[in-house]
Amino acid sequence: MSLRKSSRYSLRRRRLLALTCGPATTFLPCRPPSLTEVSYDARQCCVLLRLLLLSHFYEPLLWLVLICRHAPGTDGGCWLWSLYSCHPFYRSGMENPCLTFVTPTLLAGDRSLVSVVAHEIAHSWSGNLVTSASWTHFWLNEGFTVFLERRIIESLHGSGVAGLSTYAGRQALGDYVSSVGESHAYTALEPVLVDDTDPDDAFSVVPYERGYNFLLHLRQLLTPGDDPAPFDAFLRYYFSRFARRSITSDDLRQALAQYFPDSAATLAAVDWQAWLKAPGGLPSTVSVDESLLHQAHALATAWVATTKSVDRVAAATAAAVAAAATEGLAGWPAAQLCAFLQHIGALTSTTRGGTPLDSSVVSALDTAGHFNDCRNSEVRALWLRVALAAHYDPAVANAKLFLTSQGRMKFVRPLYRLLASVYPGGGMARALFEEHRDRLHSIAAKMIEKDFADQSAVGAVA
Ligand SMILES: [Zn+2]
Repeated sequence: MSLRKSSRYSLRRRRLLALTCGPATTFLPCRPPSLTEVSYDARQCCVLLRLLLLSHFYEPLLWLVLICRHAPGTDGGCWLWSLYSCHPFYRSGMENPCLTFVTPTLLAGDRSLVSVVAHEIAHSWSGNLVTSASWTHFWLNEGFTVFLERRIIESLHGSGVAGLSTYAGRQALGDYVSSVGESHAYTALEPVLVDDTDPDDAFSVVPYERGYNFLLHLRQLLTPGDDPAPFDAFLRYYFSRFARRSITSDDLRQALAQYFPDSAATLAAVDWQAWLKAPGGLPSTVSVDESLLHQAHALATAWVATTKSVDRVAAATAAAVAAAATEGLAGWPAAQLCAFLQHIGALTSTTRGGTPLDSSVVSALDTAGHFNDCRNSEVRALWLRVALAAHYDPAVANAKLFLTSQGRMKFVRPLYRLLASVYPGGGMARALFEEHRDRLHSIAAKMIEKDFADQSAVGAVA
């Protein structure tokens, strides 16, 4: 990062802090706060929401403090930055060493969306305590952070849920590589950035997902078996060894060699060139637990088959089979529900030659799974995509409520586009947008306005 860019970045961050933060309410980080620890300030109307956020998300922090304890620079072997707080932010989230801005859409009621906060807190170690020496080695920040994030998910929700997250990440990586081309320099984990390259231009999902997969590959080679503890111990060593330093991939390589002295042959066999320098997709297969993914895809395929059945008897049989299987859905984790709805969306996408579900099928699906009542923001967004494409009317009121109760561009932009394309003329979506645009971030409002103006983009979504 250049000095000019660095100062611009920190100025932007300070302004954001000043605008949104106010006096921070802080808690001891290693346990959920109690009501008596909160000094109520009448000016801070959001203090109870902060309390809710902290009590909701204390687990990743606790996990990280345990896993990274005893690293030099930590305070008493515990927490590096002495304070930690979450602050509610209507529009989005942002990571800071002592303070995480989080959108209340992460409050799912079952801690199923804890991964975002896990990621931001993990940056206290990977990114803030140990930093990449240049943009070329930026993957050390994000790859390690995604690795910690998914270790937390694995620890809290099991390897199957972590596998779903990995699958989603690989899909995003594949989409990016397809969009820019397999030979594009920016698909390499260590992209070559010439002097006049703006690092923002090279920014993508690559350092996150390819970086994560490389670390998972190293873990499977160096510590085979199901026990993650030996590689967790290496993480502690890594953060201790490089605390308050800026490092490169070579530093990681040396640390691995010193920590695993009996694995010299294994490390020598790692194709560092392919993983770090070569463009394209993942150089080799890295296995993860895909049991929940396969279950979700099988059920999604069964539901889509009900729409494709050509005669009424076959359709009724297929619907009965799908509905029976769906009864077990109540016990599925939110990430698996997302995989299920995402697969229905992919199989029925008109841009991929599919046909939207019939509204009667969507109604049966809602009866079986109560999706229209679900308040998990990730599940809700995917459900609305399936239900609105099928013109399932109860989903319209749900979509309007979702659009006006939060301002994350990730959710509002595609949903406005979908409403505008599915319902004639886009008048309903535009009127709703005009009524609530002042609450959106200016960039989000600008992009949505552009979508409305661009009729071809609007048409492409359905
Ligand atoms: Zn990150």
